[in-house]
Amino acid sequence: MTSTTMPALLEQAAATHGQHPAIVDGPTIITYAGLRDAVVAAARGYRALGVEPGDRVAIWAPNRVEYVIALLGAQQIGASVVPLNTRYRGHEARVVLERSRAVVLVVANGFLGTDYVALLREAAPADELPHLREIVDLDSGWADFLAGGEQVPVAEVERLAAEVTPDTVADILFTSGTTGVPKGVMSSHAQTIGVAEVWAEGAGLSEADRYAIVNPFFHSFGYKAGAIASLTAGTTIHPVLTFDPEGLMRLIQDAGITVLPGAPTIFTTLINHPRRTEFDLSSLRFSIAGAATVPETLFEQMQDVLGFDEVAQAYGLTECVVATRSRANEDPRHIAETTGPGVPGIEVRVVDETGADRPVGEDGEVWLRGANVMLGYFEDPEATAAAIDPDGWLHTGDVGRLDEHGCLKITDRIKDMFIVGGFNVYPAEVENALAAHPAVMESAVVGVPDERMGSVGRAHVVLRPGTTATADELIGWARERLANFKVPREVVFATELPRNASGKVLKTDLRTAG
Ligand code: AMP
Repeated sequence: MTSTTMPALLEQAAATHGQHPAIVDGPTIITYAGLRDAVVAAARGYRALGVEPGDRVAIWAPNRVEYVIALLGAQQIGASVVPLNTRYRGHEARVVLERSRAVVLVVANGFLGTDYVALLREAAPADELPHLREIVDLDSGWADFLAGGEQVPVAEVERLAAEVTPDTVADILFTSGTTGVPKGVMSSHAQTIGVAEVWAEGAGLSEADRYAIVNPFFHSFGYKAGAIASLTAGTTIHPVLTFDPEGLMRLIQDAGITVLPGAPTIFTTLINHPRRTEFDLSSLRFSIAGAATVPETLFEQMQDVLGFDEVAQAYGLTECVVATRSRANEDPRHIAETTGPGVPGIEVRVVDETGADRPVGEDGEVWLRGANVMLGYFEDPEATAAAIDPDGWLHTGDVGRLDEHGCLKITDRIKDMFIVGGFNVYPAEVENALAAHPAVMESAVVGVPDERMGSVGRAHVVLRPGTTATADELIGWARERLANFKVPREVVFATELPRNASGKVLKTDLRTAG
């Protein structure tokens, strides 16, 4: 490991790759030296707003150059970054801002026609979020924010940057849990950089690479395995604002993109795109697909149809970002069958209910231990103790099996969760939203297979006696309260939900019903 804090990493990158482009975003090109200067300017802006080391700064924006600057700027002075999903509705944002007690929110207001600030204020008037002192609009307020920082001496930022330690909390990534309440996953500077380095090394990243980051910066895949991994290697980042297949293929062709990781949906969409052959995609060198179950033939098609030289599969979760990764130069037919062995520094076990190791080839819960395992959940020792046992093993809630080479295959999940186009949906959260509808007595949400998205949600709903509601009405209700990917695609009405003897809803039965 070279640097163990973000300020040191940035300094090192500026010294090593100074005039090399760090980020190319449309017409904007910023070099590594330029990035360092821009980050210091943002750090001064935060100081002018009174941000202190240890404070939380929330960012609610899509992938664009200013995101990276806003993120590194906060980390430069020892503040922790709290990313918000751009698909969040007001209530979801409120919960994260409340739990993190963020003091500043940086927002790309108006992205995709969404007035984020209005959404938030509807769900949480200013007096109900007393900690949130300032909202900085990345477009209309960014210049003023930077101008405000000009009164802050550069030396002050340098002093605070030097005080950041490898153990300082760099980021808190909120993931909704099985109880429907989001928990904040904390990682230190050293951990986030460690994950990024493991990733960069596995991808063979270098200055010669041009990395299209489609995975959102608010998720570890776009942030740690994307932006920070690039910084560790001097790679040029091409942030992708929204996933538009033609726009992405044009970018690959025009910018000569070499590295393009993503959720399986992205590649399935490109492979099946009617205008794919009109674009020259021959610069593509490397890809990792992961974050969800990968269709069997996908890796072969990624090589044969999209022309990647090398493909790999990875497995991880916000709580341990890169846990396993398939070996380099593996036969693509085998890559779909395994997510590979543990990455350096990570131990993998597959255990039964008593915590005893399962034999090779047999299913059990996946446990992980090592450097990449989160520090814990923010201000939630109970949830942390439930996730990480006293011996340091993270209980993932995923089901998998190990082969004779120690390679892991994910086969199922214990935790109640399904993935829609790369985004996790925790049914409890959707069920809570539906329960707020006056006609809903109870509901159970399950993921059902979908060719394009991997899976989509289906709600099984029992209405209160004497009330009525249509499927469209309930879907509309959910859409107002939840990010779009969480909204059930289908509603099935039932007179009761199937339950086991202890009253637990039998979701497996519901998944196969329909
Ligand atoms: P997140 O916390 O958003 O990164 O989601 C992590 C979850 O995605 C894991 O707990 C798994 O259930 C799932 N996941 C990640 N990678 C894979 C993979 N390669 N195959 C199957 N599921 C995966």
